[in-house]
Amino acid sequence: EMGQLKYKRVLVKVSGEALMGEQEFGIDQDVVNRVAGEIRDARDLGAEVCVVIGGGNIFRGVSVAAKGGDRVRGDHMGMLATVMNCLAMTNALESLDVPAVPMSAIAMDEICETFTQRGAKTHLEAGKVVLFAAGTGNPYFTTDSGAALRAAEMQCDALLKGTQVDGVYSADPKKDPNAVRFETISHGEVLAKGLKVMDAAAIALAQDGNIPIIVFSIHESDGLVEVLQGKGRATVVSG
Ligand code: UDP
Repeated sequence: EMGQLKYKRVLVKVSGEALMGEQEFGIDQDVVNRVAGEIRDARDLGAEVCVVIGGGNIFRGVSVAAKGGDRVRGDHMGMLATVMNCLAMTNALESLDVPAVPMSAIAMDEICETFTQRGAKTHLEAGKVVLFAAGTGNPYFTTDSGAALRAAEMQCDALLKGTQVDGVYSADPKKDPNAVRFETISHGEVLAKGLKVMDAAAIALAQDGNIPIIVFSIHESDGLVEVLQGKGRATVVSG
């Protein structure tokens, strides 16, 4: 079965906003359960799955800064939001009998393990899904950068970026009818063209670590499994 997989060890990045579903804010349990189901299916195929979830459905640091507040504290709040999302996803995975371990970049021993590269590797090799909470643990970064960083640390074969659309476009396809979709594109071109795939720090990290980024729609059912098999509709950022 494992032979069917194009990528064996992957990091799946899901934005916080994706977890809102139709809601304006917070966590839509149905969406969380559906994504958890996709992760279970990926694991059943033999994939080793790492997960990074954003926090934009609950809090973003820039919103504090925009109102004249302290950006660093705002980012701390944002990172805490990602921990909440990771705990919700951990619950959903466990209810599907998928062993899952949340690990936070910022120590909070009563709630979850603190991230260490060796600890995470051990869990992953034991077949557990590892969820990286609190991004990089630093303000002024994003969970996209956290995802690229952890993908490099865990030597992932690919970073799978689940988005609202089915790939990378030359412009926002929801606003610009002339937007062109890329089947493949290089990290360098994404940076040079300033395409909104992930933030520049994340792209640069992935480029440096030679990690392909596969951009796919998180709303497509079986999307994750198809991407793992090298099928499905997605843009491959590599080379
Ligand atoms: N954040 C941070 N450092 C990190 C990752 C996240 O300070 O390494 C904070 C930041 O305030 C960010 C918020 O957490 O706005 C939520 O993360 P993000 O915006 O990446 O979430 P997403 O857009 O993926 O939902």
